[in-house]
Amino acid sequence: MTKSTASKIYCPKCGYQTHTYCCSSRRPNTKIRYRKCRKCDTRIRTIQRLDVVGAVEEIQPSRTEEEINQSRSELCSKYQRGRRDAMNQIKLTERDVAEIKFLIHNDIQTQAYTAMQYGVEKTAIHRIATGACFADVPTPRSLADL
Ligand SMILES: [Zn+2]
Repeated sequence: MTKSTASKIYCPKCGYQTHTYCCSSRRPNTKIRYRKCRKCDTRIRTIQRLDVVGAVEEIQPSRTEEEINQSRSELCSKYQRGRRDAMNQIKLTERDVAEIKFLIHNDIQTQAYTAMQYGVEKTAIHRIATGACFADVPTPRSLADL
């Protein structure tokens, strides 16, 4: 039986003992433990080097809410750009997209008819209508705005 190398880690907020609820050793010789305080539910992450004799778990500084939001929005815009690249292959200009949004959101045409008119797949129109693609192109108030 292998002896657990886990250390006693106390909650940085309230000082109560934490327990491991998940761990991973994705990197060789490194064990990452996800811990949770039994008292206040604060979650922390610790890292332990397994190749260093006597190395104990060290608390990883957790990201602030601001940092989390920042990376989340970077991820979102990357995702949007990816989608947009895919959409660009079916040759719709921003103007087309704005027109399509206007037509669909005002119930002027069905998605099927619009797809046929612009020579694209119905799913492309659906994605534009739901904002899955081209979310950054605003729906115009009227076609005269284009
Ligand atoms: Zn706590």
